[in-house]
Amino acid sequence: MEIHLFNISNFRVDGGAMFGVVPKALWSRVYPPDENNLIVLTLRSLIVETGGHVILVDTGWGDKQDEKFFRHVYLHGGEGLIAGLKNRGYEPEDITDVFLTHLHADHCGGGVLRSKSGSGYDLTFPGAAYHVSRTQWEWAVKNNIREEDAFLEENIIPVSESGHLHLVEEEGDLFKGFSIRFCYGHTPGLMIPVIDYNGKKLVYTGDLIPTVAHLPLVWNMSYDIESLKTIDEKRRILEEAMRNDYILIFQHDAMIECCNLEITPKGIRAKDKFELASIL
Ligand SMILES: [Zn+2]
Repeated sequence: MEIHLFNISNFRVDGGAMFGVVPKALWSRVYPPDENNLIVLTLRSLIVETGGHVILVDTGWGDKQDEKFFRHVYLHGGEGLIAGLKNRGYEPEDITDVFLTHLHADHCGGGVLRSKSGSGYDLTFPGAAYHVSRTQWEWAVKNNIREEDAFLEENIIPVSESGHLHLVEEEGDLFKGFSIRFCYGHTPGLMIPVIDYNGKKLVYTGDLIPTVAHLPLVWNMSYDIESLKTIDEKRRILEEAMRNDYILIFQHDAMIECCNLEITPKGIRAKDKFELASIL
């Protein structure tokens, strides 16, 4: 198995929205905001080569929306999606599988691009199967007023129209050494990959635990649809990870890529913080 982690881009989001009911006096000490109360998040994607598959986990925002849309996202830095792949020796055609943790725009937008002819859309990875949980797919196409800014038709419908959509029905091994868990608190059918790498288990925590600052059970995003489910799902994965010395990989933490865990009087917290490359 070969693994790469790279940051597609940074973006900014309201710090209060990222920490829900946690007072700013507390969260701002661990995740400092700018003068507009915005915090910087990364869009780290994984490339996993295993059993003849080249899997890309999440694709970032993409570039299909207009200038006004991206003015509110404040994209900056990072390697870019296609450049990040090329920097590691992959062309878009090499990707056999696009694994989408869920269909919020910052996770799946890069998987679809405007077609060169100007009308319609193409897949960014023309040879790939696009994997989404059935629960998330059915939830997203139904849409709802709470998540309507996050589920964008142009990111989602072209995937099914292409015939490349694969709906994931159950938890467990999707690829060799690449198994998945379903979560429901952030959005129904969020998928969390757990990867077996050289005897170590790596958990790509996605929007279940977006940053190290979200390890405390009640430090959750106000974007979550059902906070109590998030708390329960975090507790279960953190206890399992603690018991078995798993490594967590953070998609959105601008300061920390990975950590392992320890028990403290306040609960399960990060022990060592490090870059993924240091253990590969
Ligand atoms: Zn999300």
